[in-house]
Amino acid sequence: MKKPPAKKSAILGAIALGVMGLGFYFSQRSSSSFSAEKAHADIQTQVGFGPRVPGSSAHTQAGDWIIKQFETRGWKSGAQKFKTRDPRTEQEVEGRNLWAVLRPEAEKRVLLTAHWDTRARADADRSRPNEPGPGANDGASGVALLLELARNLANVKTEWGIDIVLFDLEDQGDEKNPDSFCLGSKIWGLSPHRANYRADFGIHVDMVGAPGAVFPREGLVGEQNLELDREFRAFASGAGLSALFPDRTAEFVFDDHSNVLRYRSIPMIALIDIRPGATFFTAWHTHQDQATAISTDTLQSVGDTVLGFLKQKLL
Ligand SMILES: [Zn+2]
Repeated sequence: MKKPPAKKSAILGAIALGVMGLGFYFSQRSSSSFSAEKAHADIQTQVGFGPRVPGSSAHTQAGDWIIKQFETRGWKSGAQKFKTRDPRTEQEVEGRNLWAVLRPEAEKRVLLTAHWDTRARADADRSRPNEPGPGANDGASGVALLLELARNLANVKTEWGIDIVLFDLEDQGDEKNPDSFCLGSKIWGLSPHRANYRADFGIHVDMVGAPGAVFPREGLVGEQNLELDREFRAFASGAGLSALFPDRTAEFVFDDHSNVLRYRSIPMIALIDIRPGATFFTAWHTHQDQATAISTDTLQSVGDTVLGFLKQKLL
């Protein structure tokens, strides 16, 4: 949650405004049911399994744990298993897109997505580029945010059906070949976990826990789903978070939402921490992408905003 600007209290005439801002800040915090602390604990658990590299036992254990977490939150959950060629090893590897559902029979549906795998090589790291990193923000944060949203959404009285899909093999690609990324979402897009799956709209999250995060509009979203994205940003702005969710379009970032748009024509917005010049957070693809480097303020702000926006849309 963004704190009120300090300069407000420095100007005598604006003290009242500052106090109002402070009151709004605290009421937002205290009324929120989204717990960044719970989400942070779920990041720590995922990182604790070890890097969730497809084919590893940490990957299997973490996937099983995630499914169980959805079930304890009252969702039905399972996995779409698939086999594909690992772009790094060029060997066949088994992947799993994890899904969770509320009200599968409902006509109106919303889709929430993230990726759950960890990149096999922390290739932006100077000292150990050939070993996998912890993937706390890149991978675990999106999963944790959706797990905490799942806990909250289970109590929201709505006729809408809700689907969460966590894609596998998002992050195993070769930088020189964009098509080698986002393999799980491509497979799901061509053949979703439920036949003829459709949704009215969707939200994709990736890297939602770094300090100093900023979520401008991703390029493809700006091209194809501007109206939905503007609706989201207007909501965020009303909550005082226009600095975190600025109304400007950034570069194209190929991510799982691109495949959901391409193969299933579901209008998606994408909350991706895109820094100037299409760069990412400083610990991206390094061994510094640790749970201790996660900002609970960022998690709280993104969680509050997505939950609030969904309540507005679904109630
Ligand atoms: Zn990544």
